[in-house]
Amino acid sequence: MYTKLIFELSHEGRVGHVLPQLDIPAQPLDSLIPKNLLRETPADLPQVAENEVVRHYINLSNLNHHVDKAFYPLGSCTMKYNPKINEQIAALEPFVLLHPEQPESSAQGALELMYDLQEYLLELSGFSGISLQPAAGAHGELVGLMLIQKYHQMKGRRRNTILVPDSAHGTNPASARIAGFTNVRTIPSDIRGRVDMDELRAAMNEDVAAIMLTNPSTLGIFEDQIMEIRTLMDSVDALMYMDGANMNALFGIVRPGDMGFDVMHLNLHKSFSTPHGGGGPGSGPVAVNNKLKDFLPVPLVVKTDKGYAFSENLPNSIGRVQSFAGNFGIFVRAYVYIRMIGREGFPKIARHSIINANYLRKRLSEAYDTGYDAPTMHEFVLSAEKQKNKGAKALDIAKRLLDFGIHPPTVYFPLIVKEAMMIEPTETESREMLDYFADTLLTIDKEIEQNPDVLHNAPVNTPVRRLDEAGAARSLDVNYYKK
Ligand SMILES: *Cc1c(COP(=O)(O)O)cnc(C)c1O
Repeated sequence: MYTKLIFELSHEGRVGHVLPQLDIPAQPLDSLIPKNLLRETPADLPQVAENEVVRHYINLSNLNHHVDKAFYPLGSCTMKYNPKINEQIAALEPFVLLHPEQPESSAQGALELMYDLQEYLLELSGFSGISLQPAAGAHGELVGLMLIQKYHQMKGRRRNTILVPDSAHGTNPASARIAGFTNVRTIPSDIRGRVDMDELRAAMNEDVAAIMLTNPSTLGIFEDQIMEIRTLMDSVDALMYMDGANMNALFGIVRPGDMGFDVMHLNLHKSFSTPHGGGGPGSGPVAVNNKLKDFLPVPLVVKTDKGYAFSENLPNSIGRVQSFAGNFGIFVRAYVYIRMIGREGFPKIARHSIINANYLRKRLSEAYDTGYDAPTMHEFVLSAEKQKNKGAKALDIAKRLLDFGIHPPTVYFPLIVKEAMMIEPTETESREMLDYFADTLLTIDKEIEQNPDVLHNAPVNTPVRRLDEAGAARSLDVNYYKK
């Protein structure tokens, strides 16, 4: 295969774009940019033709795995297909050329879009107030926890304990610590994979500020004791946070606000089909009920007699949590998605995500341990414990999947399942793709029986083989070095 990088193709004088003749007087650069910021030597940029630039990026994108290339069952991450109409509309000039400081009167369409998006998200989640500002799920958690802190503060008390079940997403305890809660207490799960109510009762006291539930939990199991948990929390006026990053299984069927939660965040970059991976940009709106509405971050997007506007009029607000209104391009994509799916479409998403997960779980139970004996929602957790005893671990299986063109599931999470493999197919995959994935995992199980070394050496078909993952994360170096 021809895989020369753009830097190797550079030729003095080769160009990809020709600018028109200047029709205004040229100005010396140092009259526009302070002298100390001007570079002294020209940048060493590759000189290449347009087709070479295009091929360079297409080749790079093919070296990687992504949702537009193949199946991506990364549990908890909801790597659903990103519809291309989202991109087309987000790329319209009036959106792209918006400036966050331009007068509200000249950005009415953008404000209306944000206002309507807020309304749609409230309708889907069952809450009464919302902020679009948080830039990611974990940021939404932090903001939600700050609102909870403010709630207790307004009642003249300081509380330090946040309860987090061991089946919660890993960001939950971290966010609680960052929000200033000094006692983050883990609540174990029972044999049904739900919150152990005896343990929860034992943990209750007047220092509890809130419980954070991931629902469905990272085991993909629906927490069915919410009303009991609510009663326990009410006994000390503690609040209930729902981690709603993965709404796929609930859409149009149940609403967290109706279930009794006080606050939740949503991940637009998961449930609402906006692209993610590679660090962003994301969006983690926080929705609340009337107990927390007065503390939401400002500015809020409001509708007035004179049109749409930003409002700072919320005296007990926790203040700003973003430099501007949030990741606007992501709002546009999520808005388009919601309008395309429509009211009737959302329950179908939920049902399809659930049936896809349960279909796979059933097929894979032939060779893999499926752990808790409970029906799952949009995702499920397998244990590769049996396979480990035969000579190949969950990590080896994950690496081997790459050779079949499939992104591995989330592995070794949740921590409460040994050799965990957390699989989320999403609703956007076909029966054929699900079967290909199941057949592949069953084939891999047979390979382990015959010769586990095949897995120890995997992947063999990828541009790079097994990486030092800790090293790659801690001392990342993405520079190109001239040979
Ligand atoms: C992804 C995820 C988060 C964190 O979201 P980020 O946008 O990655 O910060 C939190 N909770 C759950 C359940 C998630 O799946």
